[in-house]
Amino acid sequence: MTDTPFIEIRHAAKSFGALEVLKDINLTVERGQIVAIIGPSGSGKSTLLRAINELDPLTSGEVWLEGVQINKKLPHRQYEKHVNQVRQDIGMVFQHFNLFPHLNVRDNITLAPKMLKGLSTEEADKLAEEQLAHVGLSEKIDVYPSRLSGGQKQRVAIARALAMKPKVMLFDEATSALDPELVEEVNQVMKQLAEEHMTMIIVTHEMDFAASVCDRVLFMDQGVVVEEGPPEVIFKNPREERTKNFLRKHL
Ligand code: ADP
Ligand code: MG
Repeated sequence: MTDTPFIEIRHAAKSFGALEVLKDINLTVERGQIVAIIGPSGSGKSTLLRAINELDPLTSGEVWLEGVQINKKLPHRQYEKHVNQVRQDIGMVFQHFNLFPHLNVRDNITLAPKMLKGLSTEEADKLAEEQLAHVGLSEKIDVYPSRLSGGQKQRVAIARALAMKPKVMLFDEATSALDPELVEEVNQVMKQLAEEHMTMIIVTHEMDFAASVCDRVLFMDQGVVVEEGPPEVIFKNPREERTKNFLRKHL
Protein backbone atom coordinates (compact mmCIF):
# COMPACT_ATOMS: atom_id res chain seq x y z
CA MET A 1 0.00 0.00 0.00
CA THR A 2 3.04 2.25 -0.19
CA ASP A 3 1.64 3.90 -3.30
CA THR A 4 -1.48 5.13 -1.46
CA PRO A 5 -1.07 8.90 -1.08
CA PHE A 6 -1.23 10.24 2.46
CA ILE A 7 -3.86 12.82 1.57
CA GLU A 8 -5.70 12.80 -1.71
CA ILE A 9 -8.38 15.16 -2.92
CA ARG A 10 -10.14 14.05 -6.06
CA HIS A 11 -12.34 16.26 -8.18
CA ALA A 12 -13.39 18.44 -5.27
CA ALA A 13 -16.26 20.78 -6.05
CA LYS A 14 -18.23 23.04 -3.78
CA SER A 15 -21.10 25.40 -4.48
CA PHE A 16 -22.99 27.79 -2.27
CA GLY A 17 -26.25 28.05 -4.16
CA ALA A 18 -25.35 29.13 -7.68
CA LEU A 19 -21.85 30.21 -6.63
CA GLU A 20 -19.23 27.63 -7.58
CA VAL A 21 -16.46 28.13 -5.07
CA LEU A 22 -14.34 25.06 -5.79
CA LYS A 23 -14.16 23.58 -9.28
CA ASP A 24 -12.52 20.21 -9.78
CA ILE A 25 -9.65 20.54 -7.34
CA ASN A 26 -7.16 17.68 -7.30
CA LEU A 27 -4.42 17.53 -4.74
CA THR A 28 -2.09 14.92 -3.32
CA VAL A 29 -0.01 15.47 -0.20
CA GLU A 30 2.56 12.93 0.90
CA ARG A 31 3.34 12.18 4.53
CA GLY A 32 5.59 14.87 5.97
CA GLN A 33 5.04 17.21 3.06
CA ILE A 34 4.29 20.85 3.62
CA VAL A 35 2.05 22.47 1.07
CA ALA A 36 1.28 26.18 0.92
CA ILE A 37 -1.89 27.47 -0.68
CA ILE A 38 -1.77 31.05 -1.89
CA GLY A 39 -4.24 33.08 -3.89
CA PRO A 40 -6.48 36.13 -3.82
CA SER A 41 -9.20 36.64 -1.27
CA GLY A 42 -12.33 34.72 -2.26
CA SER A 43 -10.47 32.14 -4.34
CA GLY A 44 -11.72 29.24 -2.19
CA LYS A 45 -8.70 28.54 0.03
CA SER A 46 -10.62 28.45 3.32
CA THR A 47 -13.45 26.48 1.76
CA LEU A 48 -10.95 23.86 0.62
CA LEU A 49 -9.37 23.54 4.08
CA ARG A 50 -12.79 23.36 5.71
CA ALA A 51 -13.79 20.62 3.31
CA ILE A 52 -10.70 18.58 4.13
CA ASN A 53 -11.81 18.08 7.72
CA GLU A 54 -15.54 18.00 6.95
CA LEU A 55 -16.31 21.32 8.65
CA ASP A 56 -18.04 22.24 5.44
CA PRO A 57 -18.48 19.19 3.23
CA LEU A 58 -17.90 19.22 -0.51
CA THR A 59 -20.76 19.25 -2.98
CA SER A 60 -18.97 16.51 -4.89
CA GLY A 61 -15.58 14.88 -4.99
CA GLU A 62 -13.58 12.84 -2.55
CA VAL A 63 -11.17 13.47 0.30
CA TRP A 64 -8.94 10.59 1.41
CA LEU A 65 -6.53 10.26 4.32
CA GLU A 66 -4.26 7.22 4.48
CA GLY A 67 -6.47 5.25 2.14
CA VAL A 68 -9.68 6.02 4.09
CA GLN A 69 -12.32 8.24 2.56
CA ILE A 70 -13.02 11.12 4.91
CA ASN A 71 -16.15 12.46 3.26
CA LYS A 72 -18.12 9.25 3.18
CA LYS A 73 -21.86 9.32 2.95
CA LEU A 74 -22.99 7.48 6.07
CA PRO A 75 -26.17 7.17 8.12
CA HIS A 76 -26.36 10.02 10.65
CA ARG A 77 -25.02 8.25 13.78
CA GLN A 78 -22.17 6.57 11.96
CA TYR A 79 -21.33 9.84 10.24
CA GLU A 80 -21.05 11.66 13.60
CA LYS A 81 -18.68 9.01 14.87
CA HIS A 82 -16.67 9.04 11.67
CA VAL A 83 -16.38 12.83 11.65
CA ASN A 84 -15.19 12.83 15.25
CA GLN A 85 -12.36 10.55 14.22
CA VAL A 86 -11.58 12.69 11.18
CA ARG A 87 -11.33 15.81 13.33
CA GLN A 88 -8.95 14.01 15.68
CA ASP A 89 -6.71 13.13 12.79
CA ILE A 90 -6.78 16.58 11.21
CA GLY A 91 -5.86 19.56 13.36
CA MET A 92 -6.95 22.99 12.24
CA VAL A 93 -5.75 26.43 13.23
CA PHE A 94 -7.82 29.45 12.26
CA GLN A 95 -7.04 33.08 11.65
CA HIS A 96 -8.99 34.17 14.74
CA PHE A 97 -7.65 31.55 17.18
CA ASN A 98 -11.14 30.38 18.27
CA LEU A 99 -10.05 29.69 21.84
CA PHE A 100 -12.84 29.19 24.37
CA PRO A 101 -12.82 32.53 26.24
CA HIS A 102 -14.40 31.13 29.42
CA LEU A 103 -11.76 28.41 29.81
CA ASN A 104 -8.17 28.85 30.92
CA VAL A 105 -5.33 27.64 28.72
CA ARG A 106 -5.15 24.22 30.37
CA ASP A 107 -8.87 23.60 29.91
CA ASN A 108 -8.80 24.89 26.34
CA ILE A 109 -6.25 22.20 25.58
CA THR A 110 -7.67 19.35 27.66
CA LEU A 111 -11.34 19.67 26.70
CA ALA A 112 -11.21 17.72 23.42
CA PRO A 113 -8.78 15.01 24.58
CA LYS A 114 -11.07 14.37 27.57
CA MET A 115 -14.34 14.52 25.65
CA LEU A 116 -13.33 12.81 22.43
CA LYS A 117 -10.54 10.50 23.51
CA GLY A 118 -11.74 9.76 27.02
CA LEU A 119 -8.47 10.80 28.67
CA SER A 120 -8.45 11.18 32.44
CA THR A 121 -7.90 14.66 33.90
CA GLU A 122 -4.41 13.61 34.90
CA GLU A 123 -3.52 12.30 31.43
CA ALA A 124 -5.03 15.33 29.72
CA ASP A 125 -3.22 17.76 32.05
CA LYS A 126 0.06 16.05 31.27
CA LEU A 127 -0.66 16.39 27.58
CA ALA A 128 -1.47 20.10 28.02
CA GLU A 129 1.84 20.62 29.82
CA GLU A 130 3.75 18.83 27.08
CA GLN A 131 2.10 20.71 24.27
CA LEU A 132 2.46 24.09 25.97
CA ALA A 133 6.15 23.40 26.45
CA HIS A 134 6.27 22.55 22.74
CA VAL A 135 5.04 26.04 21.83
CA GLY A 136 7.07 27.73 24.58
CA LEU A 137 4.18 28.80 26.80
CA SER A 138 4.45 26.58 29.87
CA GLU A 139 4.03 29.53 32.22
CA LYS A 140 0.62 30.45 30.79
CA ILE A 141 -1.19 27.25 31.71
CA ASP A 142 -3.55 28.86 34.26
CA VAL A 143 -4.20 32.04 32.30
CA TYR A 144 -7.42 32.94 30.45
CA PRO A 145 -7.20 33.79 26.73
CA SER A 146 -8.07 37.45 27.35
CA ARG A 147 -4.72 37.83 29.14
CA LEU A 148 -2.70 36.56 26.19
CA SER A 149 -1.25 38.43 23.23
CA GLY A 150 -2.48 37.43 19.77
CA GLY A 151 0.72 35.50 19.13
CA GLN A 152 0.35 33.64 22.41
CA LYS A 153 -3.30 32.88 21.66
CA GLN A 154 -2.33 31.39 18.35
CA ARG A 155 0.43 29.31 19.94
CA VAL A 156 -2.13 27.98 22.44
CA ALA A 157 -4.48 27.20 19.55
CA ILE A 158 -1.65 25.24 17.91
CA ALA A 159 -0.90 23.42 21.19
CA ARG A 160 -4.60 22.59 21.49
CA ALA A 161 -4.68 21.11 18.00
CA LEU A 162 -1.45 19.15 18.61
CA ALA A 163 -2.84 17.68 21.83
CA MET A 164 -5.13 15.54 19.68
CA LYS A 165 -2.02 14.02 18.07
CA PRO A 166 -3.24 14.80 14.57
CA LYS A 167 -1.81 13.20 11.46
CA VAL A 168 -1.99 16.46 9.58
CA MET A 169 -2.30 20.13 10.50
CA LEU A 170 -4.23 22.70 8.49
CA PHE A 171 -3.44 26.38 8.99
CA ASP A 172 -5.82 28.98 7.64
CA GLU A 173 -3.97 32.31 7.61
CA ALA A 174 -2.76 31.65 11.13
CA THR A 175 -0.79 34.89 11.27
CA SER A 176 -2.88 37.34 9.29
CA ALA A 177 -4.82 38.68 12.30
CA LEU A 178 -1.60 39.35 14.21
CA ASP A 179 0.33 42.56 14.69
CA PRO A 180 3.48 42.31 12.57
CA GLU A 181 5.79 41.95 15.57
CA LEU A 182 3.85 38.85 16.71
CA VAL A 183 3.97 36.99 13.40
CA GLU A 184 7.45 35.58 13.84
CA GLU A 185 6.75 33.69 17.10
CA VAL A 186 3.90 31.82 15.40
CA ASN A 187 5.94 31.19 12.26
CA GLN A 188 8.70 29.79 14.47
CA VAL A 189 6.29 27.23 15.92
CA MET A 190 5.20 26.23 12.43
CA LYS A 191 8.83 25.95 11.33
CA GLN A 192 9.52 23.72 14.30
CA LEU A 193 6.60 21.47 13.29
CA ALA A 194 8.07 21.37 9.79
CA GLU A 195 11.39 20.17 11.22
CA GLU A 196 9.49 17.47 13.10
CA HIS A 197 8.03 16.37 9.74
CA MET A 198 4.43 17.19 10.55
CA THR A 199 2.32 17.03 7.40
CA MET A 200 0.86 20.49 6.91
CA ILE A 201 -1.34 22.43 4.53
CA ILE A 202 -0.81 26.11 5.10
CA VAL A 203 -2.95 28.86 3.62
CA THR A 204 -0.88 31.99 3.86
CA HIS A 205 -0.32 35.51 2.53
CA GLU A 206 3.28 35.41 3.62
CA MET A 207 5.24 34.48 0.56
CA ASP A 208 8.63 34.54 2.30
CA PHE A 209 7.39 32.14 4.92
CA ALA A 210 5.83 29.86 2.31
CA ALA A 211 9.08 29.88 0.35
CA SER A 212 11.14 29.02 3.40
CA VAL A 213 9.13 26.11 4.83
CA CYS A 214 7.02 24.60 2.07
CA ASP A 215 7.83 21.78 -0.30
CA ARG A 216 5.12 22.78 -2.73
CA VAL A 217 3.05 25.84 -3.43
CA LEU A 218 -0.42 25.90 -4.98
CA PHE A 219 -1.76 29.07 -6.49
CA MET A 220 -5.56 29.16 -6.42
CA ASP A 221 -7.82 31.62 -8.20
CA GLN A 222 -11.58 31.52 -8.65
CA GLY A 223 -11.96 28.01 -7.31
CA VAL A 224 -9.27 26.30 -9.36
CA VAL A 225 -5.64 25.42 -8.81
CA VAL A 226 -4.08 27.59 -11.50
CA GLU A 227 -0.56 26.36 -10.98
CA GLU A 228 1.46 24.33 -8.53
CA GLY A 229 5.10 23.49 -8.02
CA PRO A 230 8.11 23.86 -5.79
CA PRO A 231 8.46 27.33 -4.21
CA GLU A 232 11.49 28.22 -6.31
CA VAL A 233 9.45 27.71 -9.47
CA ILE A 234 6.17 29.26 -8.35
CA PHE A 235 7.78 32.32 -6.79
CA LYS A 236 10.66 32.88 -9.21
CA ASN A 237 9.47 31.49 -12.49
CA PRO A 238 5.70 30.97 -12.61
CA ARG A 239 4.21 29.84 -15.90
CA GLU A 240 0.72 31.29 -15.70
CA GLU A 241 -0.16 34.93 -16.24
CA ARG A 242 -2.60 34.87 -13.30
CA THR A 243 0.13 33.66 -10.96
CA LYS A 244 2.52 36.34 -12.21
CA ASN A 245 -0.08 39.05 -11.66
CA PHE A 246 -0.85 37.88 -8.15
CA LEU A 247 2.81 37.66 -7.19
CA ARG A 248 3.55 41.08 -8.62
CA LYS A 249 1.17 42.45 -6.00
CA HIS A 250 2.24 40.24 -3.12
CA LEU A 251 5.99 39.64 -3.28
P1 ADP B 1 -10.58 32.53 0.54
O1 ADP B 1 -10.32 31.77 1.80
O2 ADP B 1 -9.68 32.13 -0.59
O3 ADP B 1 -10.56 34.00 0.74
P2 ADP B 1 -13.22 31.41 0.77
O4 ADP B 1 -13.05 29.96 0.65
O5 ADP B 1 -13.43 31.98 2.13
O6 ADP B 1 -12.04 32.16 0.02
O7 ADP B 1 -14.47 31.87 -0.10
C1 ADP B 1 -14.61 31.55 -1.46
C2 ADP B 1 -15.92 32.10 -1.94
O8 ADP B 1 -16.98 31.39 -1.31
C3 ADP B 1 -16.16 33.56 -1.67
O9 ADP B 1 -16.81 34.11 -2.78
C4 ADP B 1 -17.06 33.54 -0.46
O10 ADP B 1 -17.85 34.67 -0.41
C5 ADP B 1 -17.86 32.28 -0.69
N1 ADP B 1 -18.35 31.65 0.54
C6 ADP B 1 -17.56 31.14 1.52
N2 ADP B 1 -18.29 30.59 2.50
C7 ADP B 1 -19.59 30.79 2.16
C8 ADP B 1 -20.85 30.45 2.75
N3 ADP B 1 -20.90 29.80 3.92
N4 ADP B 1 -21.96 30.80 2.08
C9 ADP B 1 -21.90 31.43 0.89
N5 ADP B 1 -20.74 31.77 0.28
C10 ADP B 1 -19.61 31.46 0.89
MG1 MG C 1 -9.84 32.44 3.69
